[in-house]
Amino acid sequence: MVKKIEHLGIAVNSIEETLPIYESLFSSACYKEEIVESEGVRTAFIRVGESKIELLEATNEDSAIAKFLSKSRGGFHHVAFEVDDIDAELERLSKEGFQLIHQTPKDGADNKRIAFLHPKSTAGMLVELCQEKSADSEA
Ligand code: ZN
Repeated sequence: MVKKIEHLGIAVNSIEETLPIYESLFSSACYKEEIVESEGVRTAFIRVGESKIELLEATNEDSAIAKFLSKSRGGFHHVAFEVDDIDAELERLSKEGFQLIHQTPKDGADNKRIAFLHPKSTAGMLVELCQEKSADSEA
């Protein structure tokens, strides 16, 4: 079951240059910066009410964010929905015919298990599902 919009992912060329803009926009300080090596991204999170903004900067040329920025000026990249059971949701969505980028959840930033759906099957929107890792599911 989908619980809420967990965060919006924003692709930026430089977190260093962009973070002050978003901190000022929302009058909210960044509470976490984290590199996700497997995705080739550096992330920075800002709380916005019950949701968050995730700034994404590429750490290498093969990063999906680098490819995205080569085709656009940056900005909105993906929307992340928090679910209560990511394995069950992926199974349900796969049965419904949605194209999964990740067949099984992987470790993401901010203590989450995550998986992306392909925008081809969601009318153009890159969708991330995420579920908070519980203390007893840590690898
Ligand atoms: Zn995200």
